[in-house]
Amino acid sequence: MPDADAHDVHAPYGPLPDGGTPRAVTRWGTPVMHRAQQQVTAYDEALRTLAADMVATMYAAEGVGLAACQIGEDVAMFVFDCPDDDGRHTVGVVCNPVLTLPEGADRQLDDDDEGCLSFPGAFEPCARPDRARVEGFGLDGEPVAFEGDGLLARCLQHETDHTIGTVFGDRLSAKSRKRLTKEHDEAAEDFPLTWPLDVETSS
Ligand SMILES: [Zn+2]
Repeated sequence: MPDADAHDVHAPYGPLPDGGTPRAVTRWGTPVMHRAQQQVTAYDEALRTLAADMVATMYAAEGVGLAACQIGEDVAMFVFDCPDDDGRHTVGVVCNPVLTLPEGADRQLDDDDEGCLSFPGAFEPCARPDRARVEGFGLDGEPVAFEGDGLLARCLQHETDHTIGTVFGDRLSAKSRKRLTKEHDEAAEDFPLTWPLDVETSS
């Protein structure tokens, strides 16, 4: 059970699947991360097991979201546990996500820092709409929809991007991507290729 006192958790479709095994996080440059993932067609036990491993990996890496391709699986699905502007955490699993972003006068860009577990140790500002809505399917094959602002809006966009083979570095200018790469390279020692397995947390 989530600890209700730790933070205000919003789980409209139930808690995240637990009992998974953390895996090493797949890095940018691995082919599966740079092409659209296979759509989910079977909502079976194997899918649930994969989602549980994704949740375990996300928490081990102290991330707020993780897509299946980030543990090397060619499946259009992501999991998240992410706060919005009010600090409220929303948790969920989305298969075959489709994003809707504000348009016209409702479209406001937010230029906050962004990072990716698959390019660890580096952050750069990335302009994205400050609200987002994603629709897809839960592990039971039933429709789900999530909407939010703040980091949650950024997370829903970032993770849906992963399922179509886009990483946030693709959205940066050449100059910004160069800074990001330098920061990532300088942090390489802290993130061996087995990360987050067998890594002691220093905090
Ligand atoms: Zn990412």
